Amino acid sequence: MQPLVDTWGREIKSVRVSVTDKCNFRCRYCMPAEGLEWLGRDEILSFEELTRVVRVLAAMGVSEIRLTGGEPLVRRDLPVLGRMLAETPGVEDLALTTNGVLLDRLAEPLVAAGLRRLNVSLDSLSHVRFAEITRRDALDRVLAGLAEAERYPELRPIKVNCVAVRGFTETEVPALAELARRKPYVVRFIEFMPLDADQAWREDEVLTGAEIRALIEERWPLVEVPAKASSTARRFRFADGAGEIGFVNPVSEPFCSSCDRIRLTADGQLRTCLFSRKEWDLKTVLRSGASDEELATFVRFAISHKELKHRINEPGFVRASRSMSQIGG
Ligand code: SAM
Repeated sequence: MQPLVDTWGREIKSVRVSVTDKCNFRCRYCMPAEGLEWLGRDEILSFEELTRVVRVLAAMGVSEIRLTGGEPLVRRDLPVLGRMLAETPGVEDLALTTNGVLLDRLAEPLVAAGLRRLNVSLDSLSHVRFAEITRRDALDRVLAGLAEAERYPELRPIKVNCVAVRGFTETEVPALAELARRKPYVVRFIEFMPLDADQAWREDEVLTGAEIRALIEERWPLVEVPAKASSTARRFRFADGAGEIGFVNPVSEPFCSSCDRIRLTADGQLRTCLFSRKEWDLKTVLRSGASDEELATFVRFAISHKELKHRINEPGFVRASRSMSQIGG
């Protein structure tokens, strides 16, 4: 089948599949303390529906699947879905983004199902600061989850993602950099984006990758290493050899020109950009008895409308139609 190429010539290779909008954390930069309404059971795509969408996408060359949410590990029987997706023809890479709190129980069945790459979100190694940002006292469980994941050599790389918020993250940087030196984890700092449900984001709260790099280099010089063209991160190793650090700089150094991603929300809406204002209702097409060919045609039409870029830095920027936990980060 023809590959999926948008009107700007970008080939779509990767899909982020949100399996639930529910989350057991309430990170300040993502969710409100309370009050976000969950989707109803029937609104969420079933494992069969998700696998069918992935099969249609994979036939068009979308070979990288990343499970996300909400918190994907709260979706019941996630390893069953993992296996269904890993066994889908054309799927070459199954990855997961998680807060890690249920990983100590789920790492083993997920690896057995075919999970090969893991991102764990972790914003602080201090119990007090962790609870402050996530509104949950769960640091030890996240670290236990990471330790469990580390036991499976098939599961590499293990990345630790920290959202960098000015006024919070500066003090956390040394311990997180030290984690990258001491553990087989690639620690990555991600710039705070205007996707928080509270709509409190301000540009001056974005702690840039360059600023964090300078903080780290006060103590440990870094050397840039080449990244894949489609990579969202700039990669660095410590000059003295131990460990890797990454910077995902969507605000200060947008990487839209090499974007090869689309997203599927838990309620079956296709999004062609994290910042889309428009969603494509794949669920309705799926549930109306469409053939695989009809699904593929619908997807191609949506991709032909993929945005050139997000416009965070431009005057008149309008926020996405939903917040991060509802989209699937
Ligand atoms: N619950 C999972 C987790 O914590 O990784 C998966 C979903 S979460 C929405 C995916 C990623 O988005 C996490 O790394 C999270 O820190 C990040 N994120 C959430 N809100 C963000 C924001 N406003 N700016 C940048 N990253 C954000």
